[in-house]
Amino acid sequence: MRTITTDVLIVGSGGAGLRAAAAAADGGAKALIVCKGKVNRSGSTLLAGANVSADVMCDGRSMASMGIGIGDENDSKEKFYKDIILEGVWLNDRGLVKQYVENAPTVIREIVENNKNLHPKGDDREIGIPGSTIIDTYYKMIRERNVDVVEDSSLLDLLKASDGTVAGALFLDLIHGEIFAVNAKATVLATGGMHNCYSFTSGTTGLVGEGQAAAIRAGAEMIDMEMVTFCPGVITHPMKWRGSILPYIIHTNDQFRLKNADGEEFMAKHLPQSAVDLALHSEWNKMLLCYAMHKEVNQEGKGDAYGGVTFDLEFKDEEDEQAFLDHYPFLKTGTCNEMFRYIKDHGGIPVYGAAHYFDGGIFVDPSFATSLEGLFAAGECTGGTFGSNRVSAATTQMLVQGLEAGKSAAAYAAGAELKAFCPVCLEKAEKDALRPFEEGKEDPRKLKKKINEIVSAGAGVVRDEKGMTEALAALEAQDLSAYGVTVDTRAYNRSWMDWLESRSMLTCSKAILASSLMRKESRGVFIRSDYFYTDNDEYLVSTRYKDGRVRLEPVDQADVPVPAGRLGYIENIEDVIKRLSYS
Ligand SMILES: Cc1cc2nc3c(=O)[nH]c(=O)nc-3n(C[C@H](O)[C@H](O)[C@H](O)COP(=O)(O)OP(=O)(O)OC[C@H]3O[C@@H](n4cnc5c(N)ncnc54)[C@H](O)[C@@H]3O)c2cc1C
Repeated sequence: MRTITTDVLIVGSGGAGLRAAAAAADGGAKALIVCKGKVNRSGSTLLAGANVSADVMCDGRSMASMGIGIGDENDSKEKFYKDIILEGVWLNDRGLVKQYVENAPTVIREIVENNKNLHPKGDDREIGIPGSTIIDTYYKMIRERNVDVVEDSSLLDLLKASDGTVAGALFLDLIHGEIFAVNAKATVLATGGMHNCYSFTSGTTGLVGEGQAAAIRAGAEMIDMEMVTFCPGVITHPMKWRGSILPYIIHTNDQFRLKNADGEEFMAKHLPQSAVDLALHSEWNKMLLCYAMHKEVNQEGKGDAYGGVTFDLEFKDEEDEQAFLDHYPFLKTGTCNEMFRYIKDHGGIPVYGAAHYFDGGIFVDPSFATSLEGLFAAGECTGGTFGSNRVSAATTQMLVQGLEAGKSAAAYAAGAELKAFCPVCLEKAEKDALRPFEEGKEDPRKLKKKINEIVSAGAGVVRDEKGMTEALAALEAQDLSAYGVTVDTRAYNRSWMDWLESRSMLTCSKAILASSLMRKESRGVFIRSDYFYTDNDEYLVSTRYKDGRVRLEPVDQADVPVPAGRLGYIENIEDVIKRLSYS
């Protein structure tokens, strides 16, 4: 088998992967990125902020010090730290939050200094930058540092040495159908979210949680896998725009309306007015709007033909419309303008809540080491930073984590030797990847569809014991060996990819459901209809999934006071928001 050797292997080339590779190279390591798509055009990073305006965040004082005309001198890193923990409803890993707050100004400065023509708009703590600008900044950085890149190659499994250390990974070259290995002193996973475990998602098609699944198979510990952020205002129809979050980007405005199939506004039916106001004017809109949409569609049965609701814009007069367009100038041209016109001409556009961001993932410590020796992870494939709700920027998360993970991996590699793969481990990983050529004949797309249906029904916006138990049992009942390739060639075989992706989807989905069943409360983005309250007596814990089992780990609460007892889910959100320094 062809084997490439390197000091630091980085899997994935979104913001986290690119930043990690550049940091590893700066740390003196020979760095190699292997990614499933094109190095500068794959993953969620490119879509951030609908590639119009993704928020990148740090504390207001640091922002003000950058000389870009925004920020807040009265803010501080301490306030930002406390707010992130409140927004995470106290579950956040404190070490990861400290690391985020400390390094956020560094990465923002990098982007601003590398893009002299950028005149970002923003407010006290955030500036808006298109996802592609972020990617291009760090793509340039890895090219300047001569980082090696292998594109169009998908991670199959992590490979261990005989002593159990992660010694690299096995990949499939998707174009030629060749399986190859990378032998590395340190490995960084930066493979993004698990979006396509769900049938409706805002993420790109390649994101199915293959990094998380490989980590689980290798015995790594996962954290808070039950925490999934759904984005309201994601287009369901027309097909050409399905998955676009543009309506969400422009929704926090007085002109925005959400209507059911009968043309009625419905938010106030499911939320108290105070929560409706929050949903419209705060970053907590994601879960509140998704909750109201879920109730209207699934409980009231007032969903539209596409299974969702209508996003509409209502303007008082032409002046109002012009002011709106001036506020969102990207709506004046190109595809965004087409979408805007569609909304106006069709009395709105069909939208629903889509799986959008994964708050849980691979457990890492503040040096971004995982529970497996030799393995690091960064970005959305990790968990813990944002606890039960990401309000602050995931874009900043991926960059600060990539930076630190790359540094740590390079330092680790400097003191490590290249270890030979355990032969049994290598043989098994290759044999497993070739199973669809030997086993069942069913088309693996059918399995993907089944997993999507099961996970969307059992682990959607609102969950309950019965639904989750049934969903987990249904996942356990799926037999991967019944599925196989539909064509027998290796080169660019889409059905082989489908089989491999469905294998990872099954692994991740079981972890999401098993972890969800352990949390008998509602908190942040995790909503249970049968436990519709936040329980600070019993559930100030993170879930830890490993080898098919879940344990509960208390979260250190020393730094931010937490009210004891149980509080209704919505009341708790309102209470938390009152405690924020910016509320
Ligand atoms: C539509 C959308 C809009 C968003 N808007 C915002 C926003 O405005 N603000 C914000 O803060 N956050 C936003 N987010 C979230 C944010 O963009 C992501 O959390 C962040 O970009 C993740 O970066 P990452 O590097 O961890 O992963 P990604 O950018 O997703 O990159 C993952 C990489 O891993 C590769 N990969 C995956 N599987 C494999 C495999 N098997 N083998 C090899 N490589 C693999 C992919 O090809 C890709 O290169 C948005 C997300 C979406 C989907």
